[in-house]
Amino acid sequence: MKATVLIIEDEPQIAELISLYLKKEGIDTKHTLTGEDGLELLQVGNIDLIILDINLPGMDGFEVLQKIRRIEELPVIIVSARQEDEDMIMGFGIGADDYVSKPFSPKVLAARVRANLKRSKNRDSSLDSQISFGPYLLDTGNIWLKKHGERLELSPKEMALLTALAETPEKPFSQEDLYAKIWHNSYGDLTTVSVHIQRLRKKIEKDPANPQYIKTSYGFGYYLCTTGDKNET
Ligand code: CA
Repeated sequence: MKATVLIIEDEPQIAELISLYLKKEGIDTKHTLTGEDGLELLQVGNIDLIILDINLPGMDGFEVLQKIRRIEELPVIIVSARQEDEDMIMGFGIGADDYVSKPFSPKVLAARVRANLKRSKNRDSSLDSQISFGPYLLDTGNIWLKKHGERLELSPKEMALLTALAETPEKPFSQEDLYAKIWHNSYGDLTTVSVHIQRLRKKIEKDPANPQYIKTSYGFGYYLCTTGDKNET
């Protein structure tokens, strides 16, 4: 399958140039001008690697990287015009996989992308991205949920919530954790989480008032029970 690289870069010409070189290598690209849009796309799209500019309008690259790390383990290559080593160290300190300084040769960047994709592919190949519970099959890599082979329509937030719970089945996640993970924020209205849990239950559970899969851990949060109701077919 073709790899997809997300370029978060506020200068369209630079993004186009990177995109051009990656396409030559048979890599698909997506582009956003801001970190906020990039994070949004990361939840919906199937992204394999991120090329992240540091000087961005709004949220800067470091902030974006911290938020990416709360969601996913995918490789991030930082691109920055600031020459200071501090940038580089900070970048690695919060989980960047590679660093390229501007101005850069697109050829060199493309080679780095290839190397990082290869490394992460080796790292992930042992991980199974599919998980089944009751009549459902969830593919967290390709982002779909099927019941008896039929795809169910979930909103991006519902899918993100289910994927977060499926990361470690049977393990309860607090509302705070889920909120931080999905809404990229450590503060906010936690009832948002329970509202989305209810929506998810309505789509998945036979009796949403008596859930078999999306269970409540009382006084704490929620967890995914993969054994569920054995009688449900
Ligand atoms: Ca910039």
